[in-house]
Amino acid sequence: MTERTLWARDELNRMREEGRVVPIRTIEGPQGAYVTIDGRKMLNMCSNNYLGLANHPEVRKAAIEAIEKFGVGAGAVRTIAGTNTLHVEAERKLARFKGMDASIVFQGGLLANSGTIPVMVSKDDVVFSEELNHASIIDGVRLSGAKKIVYRHLDMDDLETKLKENRKDGKKALIISDGVFSMDGDIAPLDVMTELGEKYDAMIYVDDAHGEGVLGKNGRGIVDHFGLHDRVDIEMGTFSKALGTMGGFSAGSSDIVELLHQRARPFLFSSALNPADTAAVLKSIEILERDDSLVRKLWKNAETLKKGLNELGYNTGSSKTPITPVIVGDEKKTLELSNSLYREGIFASPIVFPTVARGSARIRLMPSAVHSEDDIGLAVEKFRSIGKSIGVI
Ligand SMILES: *Cc1c(COP(=O)(O)O)cnc(C)c1O
Repeated sequence: MTERTLWARDELNRMREEGRVVPIRTIEGPQGAYVTIDGRKMLNMCSNNYLGLANHPEVRKAAIEAIEKFGVGAGAVRTIAGTNTLHVEAERKLARFKGMDASIVFQGGLLANSGTIPVMVSKDDVVFSEELNHASIIDGVRLSGAKKIVYRHLDMDDLETKLKENRKDGKKALIISDGVFSMDGDIAPLDVMTELGEKYDAMIYVDDAHGEGVLGKNGRGIVDHFGLHDRVDIEMGTFSKALGTMGGFSAGSSDIVELLHQRARPFLFSSALNPADTAAVLKSIEILERDDSLVRKLWKNAETLKKGLNELGYNTGSSKTPITPVIVGDEKKTLELSNSLYREGIFASPIVFPTVARGSARIRLMPSAVHSEDDIGLAVEKFRSIGKSIGVI
């Protein structure tokens, strides 16, 4: 260490004083309804493993077999020597699952956004970006150099006003939004967005990270949920949430996808997704196409959880999906609730400013298809006893 990097310690100390240093818990085994932390078995209420596919026996087996057949690394970037049959098959299968013409696989959802957006728009173009969009969309728009106009959360009147004012002839325009908002679980009005896109000649780009495996027929996602298959230009997604592994993709027209294969920087300049991850996602999609029992179980658990918490008097916000925010408001009370739950065996991380607005601190619960009815009951019971003892209900 040199003296030149001591500024980092000062910075951390400042953050600690403001209560903004998040403790990072280390998990000692696979994801599931329960996880082991510090040698203790904890009820896991905060991972994105919606369907339990992160440790599903068939998915594990597919990943192991891929390692035996293809090894552990893809070997190069996709455009030089890194494309294998698993990638090609995954791209075909994802396009079919999503009801789009074609798709391109990236090494993560963040990279899908930061790679795709700058190919869709550039310096002279304009992007209409929803206020609560994910950080990776914000980064992608920045990298594109396009002019950014932010419209208010879910507010289609505001979007239309801004389209009227800023949509210029001869330039491309793009409306971009998360499909499901990860902190509140509410859903973008993609149907209205699409009509506005058609009216003002603006392309439509939706990030379906929290819609995959959750919304639509057999978890096909938000475009399927609204029945907008030939009307949305890009449906971007990730493999890291409901699909249980790692990686991301963008689906769209064959021309757009071919252009992305030629131009998207994470595709050209970062090595390809590993065989195990690619084979895992292929298997996850096969499982979803086969039957919707995991998706139905997820929704049933979410309904039980929300009902239980609401009956206790908790505010679970405006969620329309299994994402269940328990909005406490006060930052310190939220940390106290989370810490007390943790002591009693419930793993439910607090979410505070700057991830959500000041004064809207919360615990975001993520029920999954691998929780049993008793697991959900246990979570509600602990929220009752601890909530009463610390005075949040
Ligand atoms: C998680 C998430 C991403 C990033 O996906 P990764 O595959 O984890 O990189 C992008 N967009 C949204 C809305 C997300 O929730």
